[in-house]
Amino acid sequence: MRRRVVSKMNSISQFSLLESAYSQLPERFFRPAKPTPVGRPAMVLWNPALAEELGLNGDPSGLAALLSGNDTLPGSKPLATAYAGHQFGHFVPQLGDGRAILLGEAMSRQGMRYEIQLKGAGRTPFSRNGDGRSSLGPVIREYLASEAMHALGIPTTRALAATLTGEAVYRERALPGAVFTRVARSHIRVGTFQYFASRGDIAGVRTLADHVIGRFFPDLVSAEHPYRGLLLAARDAQAELVARWMQVGFIHGVMNTDNMSILGDTIDYGPCAFMDAYDPATVYSAIDERGRYAYANQPSIATWNLARLAETLLDLIDPDAEKAVAWAEEAVRGFAPIYQLHWLRGMKAKIGLNADRPEDPGLVEELLELMHKGAADFTLTYRNLAMTVDGQSDVAFSELFREPRGVAPWLARWRERLGWEGRRQADIGSGMQRVNPAFILRNHRVERAIDAAVDEGDFSKAVELHQVLANPFDDQAEYAAYREPPRPGDWQCKTFCGT
Ligand code: AMP
Ligand code: MG
Repeated sequence: MRRRVVSKMNSISQFSLLESAYSQLPERFFRPAKPTPVGRPAMVLWNPALAEELGLNGDPSGLAALLSGNDTLPGSKPLATAYAGHQFGHFVPQLGDGRAILLGEAMSRQGMRYEIQLKGAGRTPFSRNGDGRSSLGPVIREYLASEAMHALGIPTTRALAATLTGEAVYRERALPGAVFTRVARSHIRVGTFQYFASRGDIAGVRTLADHVIGRFFPDLVSAEHPYRGLLLAARDAQAELVARWMQVGFIHGVMNTDNMSILGDTIDYGPCAFMDAYDPATVYSAIDERGRYAYANQPSIATWNLARLAETLLDLIDPDAEKAVAWAEEAVRGFAPIYQLHWLRGMKAKIGLNADRPEDPGLVEELLELMHKGAADFTLTYRNLAMTVDGQSDVAFSELFREPRGVAPWLARWRERLGWEGRRQADIGSGMQRVNPAFILRNHRVERAIDAAVDEGDFSKAVELHQVLANPFDDQAEYAAYREPPRPGDWQCKTFCGT
């Protein structure tokens, strides 16, 4: 039985957490880690919609002390999880939560358990040379990006709160310190499996796999090959996730194996960004000098990461090593066709195609080529296309391309193809609007929100962005300016490294 640990604070009587399931795992899976108290905690962002889902009602003002780490829930077992990981291709046998502390779990209204984690709450036994802290900018970026992702319907960790510590953290300069409250189904990563496998701790890998299966894939518990099933489930979830990222122009930025969730949720938002003008080679992260994690590389990197996961499971896949490797290789090879299926289906939906015709993949690809050549904005291209199914607004679409006249032949072929759909134009258009967001988290908007918060203590821009992005598929005419890509000079690429 897990104990319910209850908050001391009365201002939000319902705030209580369960002991995390993770804390029930053997001791070597984590280290106890208490948040380090801070000078002057002040909550600056609070997500009432998520709080409501988690049954955390009431006035959040009394929560600043808890969510900055100054107060602890009596009886709670805060901890830092152990993990390893390949960082930019190089294996690091011990990473772990160097600045994240798992407080416990909340039970959602739907009866799902969510882990509540503080990021930036001070040093842990895994901090190595780090200070265990986060600066405000990356906290705001992760907050907004993860909530934008959620609103797009893409699996992700969530943002519950951001709390100022009242203390400075030192990066290139002194910056305000902040603690991010993250909510996730699980924080287990590919790197968590690697941690045990690289130590030859097969019992540890098995315990971890059993934990994940028991919690998230109950159907596999009684399957003939539960661990094979786990690898396939991780593969399928990841293939779908990356396809969804590609369809909204999202670039994770640091797809290290320690940043890849076993469940296929988007996790660890660092130097991530949604692309403006379409270019498959786009990289925003200043630390990704060689473009390993460029937009177009994401599916192949996910496959590579999956192979690293498969390696950790070999002993559980088959006692015969050769058979295990052969089976795992086949499983990993399966990523590409599954990814391709999700990608094509989603890209077709973006241009209004539900039926199947031989010319479809070509239409999808040719539009991407035109966008690349014409430096067209990724998001607006599809949104404006959705607005001109009837041909009335072709100009607003064509204008997005460097040579507007060059897109006319494609538009003509696309309309001809729409004729095969057997659906009314209005229905095709509204269907396209439901999959092509009007609003994405534009980098220049995030930067402005961060600058206002860091330089002036003004959080209104961040709050407004969060609000607009909560309904990305609605027109929200009053916020039309938020749709616009940056103008030259609005934003310098590669200005951030994320932490
Ligand atoms: P990330 O790049 O945020 O995915 O982190 C990679 C590793 O570095 C993880 O083990 C983090 O816990 C650790 N880390 C990142 N920033 C800090 C910090 N400020 N203090 C301690 N550890 C950190
Ligand atoms: Mg990470």
